Amino acid sequence: MAVANAIRGAGGEDPARRLYSRIGNFLVEQRLDPDPANYAFAYHLLADPDGPLARAVAALTDGGVRLTQRDVETLGVDAKPVAGNAVKAAAQKADGLVAQTQMQVEGFEDMVTAIRAETEGFGRDLAASAEEMQRSATGDISEIARITAAMLERVRSAEERLDSATREASDLRKKLEEARDNARRDPLTDLPNRRAFEEAYAAQAATGENICLAVCDIDHFKSVNDRFGHAVGDRVLKAIAEALSTSCKGHLVARYGGEEFAVLFAGVDLETARATLDTARATVATRQYRLREDDAPLGAVTFSAGITLATGEDSYHSLFKRADQLLYAAKSAGRNCLRTD
Ligand code: GH3
Ligand code: MG
Ligand code: MG
Repeated sequence: MAVANAIRGAGGEDPARRLYSRIGNFLVEQRLDPDPANYAFAYHLLADPDGPLARAVAALTDGGVRLTQRDVETLGVDAKPVAGNAVKAAAQKADGLVAQTQMQVEGFEDMVTAIRAETEGFGRDLAASAEEMQRSATGDISEIARITAAMLERVRSAEERLDSATREASDLRKKLEEARDNARRDPLTDLPNRRAFEEAYAAQAATGENICLAVCDIDHFKSVNDRFGHAVGDRVLKAIAEALSTSCKGHLVARYGGEEFAVLFAGVDLETARATLDTARATVATRQYRLREDDAPLGAVTFSAGITLATGEDSYHSLFKRADQLLYAAKSAGRNCLRTD
């Protein structure tokens, strides 16, 4: 009962703070180490007090029994952040890079201002010294030598600072390129994502070359997840991504979202694009997918697709919509097939 109360928690003012302290209390009460896996377990449990995990824990701890580390492992929670958190983490990372870039630009400005002030000071000192030498024929040349030596030292130190700032700038550029690439790549399949696809379409449309656009959707994919679990579903997505990329080599294959892929065929006619995609369809449909754990067959996995040629009047939206309608025509025709207009 104590565990059930801990899971549900008492009312209070700040929900985030309340959840955080309930997670801490839960780990202490259950004598579980506050490591990331246990923390994720407690988070999933306490964030969804009516969920399946909470029900399983309530059953295990009925009568005041404490959870063991083994229970936590058996109930198993994926410790990777939930989708919303992953998006937040990516946004925070991007914000961090923007802040770093801003700081670096400000650092450059300060450095240039300091170097300018030093060279101006050097010019002033040198002019004053030359004036003095002209006025009294007895001017001291060693004063100029001293000013010059001091300036050389400052130039050397400015060069060092510039070198180190240039190295920092190049590191930052690499990180920004990485962040830019990550924002355009699907982490599961490593394919370009929808954003990258739309950008590639815009670039291709500007060349005036032929474009064929295909939308592919895995058939009855929900049932793969339902029968074998989400992790197996993920592996199937990866395998199909690979098959599509291989069969459509030279064209852009993207994971458009969920169990949907899009292919951009550039510089080929509709029949060539259709035949290429049909090879991918046949490859996927005839492959024997098996469970990694016990080699049991998954049964056939297929996809359907709609494919269409862009006309001069098409916008991206109208082209995609037509491909999508053709995809649904393929689904209605019994799936595992392609439809063109
Ligand atoms: P249809 O032939 O009509 O397309 O049926 P379907 O079951 O494929 O279509 P539905 O839209 O009903 O289900 C799509 C499923 O795809 C549901 C969703 O959980 C699953 N899915 C989407 N993205 C992912 C993912 O990244 N991983 C896994 N494992 N499943 C995913
Ligand atoms: Mg779908
Ligand atoms: Mg589907």
